[in-house]
Amino acid sequence: MDAPSSKDLPNDLIHRLERRAERERNARIAAEKLLEQKSRELYLANQQLKSLAAGLEERVEERTRELVDAREQAVKLAERDYLTGLANRTCFVRLLCEAIDRWHDGNSKFALLLIDLDRFKEINDTVGHDAGDAFLQHAAAHIKKSVRGHDVVARLGGDEFAVICNYVESARDVECVAERIMGEFEKPLHYRNRILSASCSIGFAVFPDDAGNVTDLQRFADIALYRSKAGGRAAFTAFSPTMNEEVRRRQTLEHALRTAVRDGSIEPWYQPIMEVLTGAPVAAEVLARWRLPDGSVLQPASFMNVLEECGLMRDLFRGILRTSCTTACPWIEQGRIEYLSVNVSPSQFKIGSLVQDVESILAETGFPYRALQLEITEDALLSDLKTIGTLLEDLTTRGVRIALDDFGSGYSSIGYLRHLPIHAIKLDRSLTCDVVSDSRARAIVSAINEIAKALGVGLLAEGVETEAQALMLGRAGCSYLQGFLFGRPAAAAEFERRISVSSARAAQWG
Ligand SMILES: [Mg+2]
Repeated sequence: MDAPSSKDLPNDLIHRLERRAERERNARIAAEKLLEQKSRELYLANQQLKSLAAGLEERVEERTRELVDAREQAVKLAERDYLTGLANRTCFVRLLCEAIDRWHDGNSKFALLLIDLDRFKEINDTVGHDAGDAFLQHAAAHIKKSVRGHDVVARLGGDEFAVICNYVESARDVECVAERIMGEFEKPLHYRNRILSASCSIGFAVFPDDAGNVTDLQRFADIALYRSKAGGRAAFTAFSPTMNEEVRRRQTLEHALRTAVRDGSIEPWYQPIMEVLTGAPVAAEVLARWRLPDGSVLQPASFMNVLEECGLMRDLFRGILRTSCTTACPWIEQGRIEYLSVNVSPSQFKIGSLVQDVESILAETGFPYRALQLEITEDALLSDLKTIGTLLEDLTTRGVRIALDDFGSGYSSIGYLRHLPIHAIKLDRSLTCDVVSDSRARAIVSAINEIAKALGVGLLAEGVETEAQALMLGRAGCSYLQGFLFGRPAAAAEFERRISVSSARAAQWG
């Protein structure tokens, strides 16, 4: 039987089938459209994601780069000196260790130069810190200009610089660098209408010839630098082993001095000051003597400068003043002498503790202010005259006497007589020494006597050793004499014995 054709189908069925086919076609077209739209959306979303991912990756890379840069910058800053841009101490120590490693790897020796500006503090103090900073930059440029390409320059702090001179064949190589640096420092800096200049001192040591490790190398270069400074500055010095020996001796001396100041083995000795009118001792100058464990006694000349450099003068002054005031209290009370004359070092004025120290020790010992004379030298007055004047006024209003020591050996002592509350002038021993043989010295003593009389100030001559000197000085107007003729400095017990038998001398000099 044949399949029925559409002609055989009823019309309404044909219509239904056609509508159904139409619906299915429309549905397919709509589905295809939707699929196409969704595909496009997916594609776009994908594209967006891709570009987002790329951007993110780029950003991460950028941030990583920034972090690396910042870290490098931080490392650089941590190793740079902010003012001069040179390597700082941290960097310098690292480079020094690297130089030693290189030597161990078979490279040639190297030298360490330490450079210190001479009297740089004066620029800071007189022109100001801005000028000081400008000068440090100027100095850094000088040093950089003077070194060779493979050398390293560092600022260690303040006005201290260092150079690591790499690949050194002989000391001469280093000397050439040092000479160039010193030559550069001869060029001044023009700063705001002022001309600033400072020389520099250099010390150097060579690795491994002089030292076998970083610590010794730095120490030895420093010792050589100290030698340049001590020799009058503006010089360079190569380290030599004898210097080390000297430093060791000096350290032993410093240590012994610290102990001596602490335990009182630097003790006060007393030298009589005679009154010409009565021929009797009227006072005693207190002089420091160091009694060593073997019983021998050292004069101040052999240790005073070391004490000064170690900053021990204040401690010594306090110790000497305390002991001498305690010892001399009965001498004053019994009228055997009228006062003690104690030397004050220039550094004590810089510390500014003099009034406080005198006050506390006099309170502690019960020693009267009126029985104390302080001897000051011109050196002490070179700094700030106004401040020192106020300080001395403070002491003199309490009754302390002030004597101007070593008068006639300096330059401007007469000016001090005008501005400071001085009670006595102590003529320098050089005048005493020549007063018999030199009429000019005699004329100067007479002239000083006129000034002293006019100002109402006592005149004392130190270093009197002969009767002829004593007579001449007495005639020239000195009211007080001191020197070996009347007695050498003696320990307390011996001095006490002498002042108790001094009436015999009084008869002789009265
Ligand atoms: Mg003196």
